[in-house]
Amino acid sequence: MKLTFWGASRQVTGSMYLLETKDDYRILIDCGMDMERKDINPEDYVGGGLFPFEASMVNAVILTHAHLDHTGFLPNLLREGFEGKIYCTHATLDLTKLILEDSASLNQHRLKKLQKKDKKRTELQKKDSRLKELYVHKQVTETLEMCVCVNFAQRIKLAKGVHLTFVPAGHLLGAGHLYIEVEEEGKTKRIGFSGDLGRYDSPLLNDPEEMPEVDYLICESTYGSRYHKTKGTPEDEVLEVIKSTCVDVPGRLIVPAFSIGRTQAMLYTLHKLQKQGHLPPIRIFSDSPLALKSNLIYQKHHKSLNTEAQEFMKTHGTLFDFENLVQVESDKQSKAISNYHEPCIIVSSSGMIQGGRIEHHVRTNLQNSHATILMIGFSSEGTLGYELANGKTSVEINKKEVEIRARITSIDVFSGHADLNGLLKFVKAQKSEKLQKIFIVHGEYNNMLAYQQHLAEAGYPQAEVPKRGQSFEL
Ligand SMILES: [Zn+2]
Repeated sequence: MKLTFWGASRQVTGSMYLLETKDDYRILIDCGMDMERKDINPEDYVGGGLFPFEASMVNAVILTHAHLDHTGFLPNLLREGFEGKIYCTHATLDLTKLILEDSASLNQHRLKKLQKKDKKRTELQKKDSRLKELYVHKQVTETLEMCVCVNFAQRIKLAKGVHLTFVPAGHLLGAGHLYIEVEEEGKTKRIGFSGDLGRYDSPLLNDPEEMPEVDYLICESTYGSRYHKTKGTPEDEVLEVIKSTCVDVPGRLIVPAFSIGRTQAMLYTLHKLQKQGHLPPIRIFSDSPLALKSNLIYQKHHKSLNTEAQEFMKTHGTLFDFENLVQVESDKQSKAISNYHEPCIIVSSSGMIQGGRIEHHVRTNLQNSHATILMIGFSSEGTLGYELANGKTSVEINKKEVEIRARITSIDVFSGHADLNGLLKFVKAQKSEKLQKIFIVHGEYNNMLAYQQHLAEAGYPQAEVPKRGQSFEL
């Protein structure tokens, strides 16, 4: 069989791998949006389309989890002729629905804007293939109808001699590693995809589970050369920042957070602090309509959360609703927070401060020396989050240089990814002498090379860092 790396190769986003068996059964593992791609080489794409292979020839898609960089290109696969099934866990389907619908809403907004400008557009802009990527709600609905839900640990048959099992990955609600068994010429070959690997002791989520023994392992490497700096529990770390921002001085704490995953971890932590009597009586604004929908999905699937969260849910009847928490719905309400002058906490998206309501909260407070902006996730280069997290003393806003007077600080206790210790632990569950190859994906290139080196030192010299488009015979 043949495995080709079509995304998250020597970069983080755009996860997409094509596995083709000798019997011509073709599985696409993840179908993510590539946020890092700058240029498009038309020769890379089949028939002027959006994929480097025939979408109609793919028999099945398997989703490791719902994040946009793993699912965001699915509707385009359908538009180009894919007619197979999409396999995922129940929670992944619910979260994917939210993510793709949100993405379609943004696309429709962009398309409308472009139609207005249509007459002014040059021929060159009209040919921009990025425009072709903008799917709408109808295509999202059609995509979701093709999904088939699978339980964790349930071994299902995809085709003759091809089986799939989801193993909990602890990265996001519903996230799994994939264990794929393929029988070829009387021999069974086992291939393991890590998906995004979660960490131990996350708020809400269960710990990642070990991958069964495999012949080939495809492993993410987001934190391939780094260790988490976490000092205490999420409650300890968050409370320390709240005290220095909202108790010692009458300030406001602004937390940029992804609506799905990170916001739930943050709200749950604040809720726990409130129930323990540690939270000062200040108002907390959760300002993201998408996060509100995501909260409901986390509660719907509360039996898939860790024991502590399940107990908490049983005792309090809710994970995310508590006294002093205000769920902000309209844009008008969101803007009105600027006129609230008491100490408060604002949790809003996007996590990288690129788009979303967080932008105006950050912009209006950059010069407020009583404000703290707490970064809790990863920001990629080119975003305001990246500039703040990397110690800039001034940033450009609306073509004006703005001096930063707010305090910028960060914690990584909410990171959804395993660090180098976690990644090595995951690989070490495999016997090196039985493992034919490890393919390193989903990381910044330098991190991948560092991780490859760490693996070699740990007794796994068989790791490769495949290029986009590179194929391997398994
Ligand atoms: Zn992810």
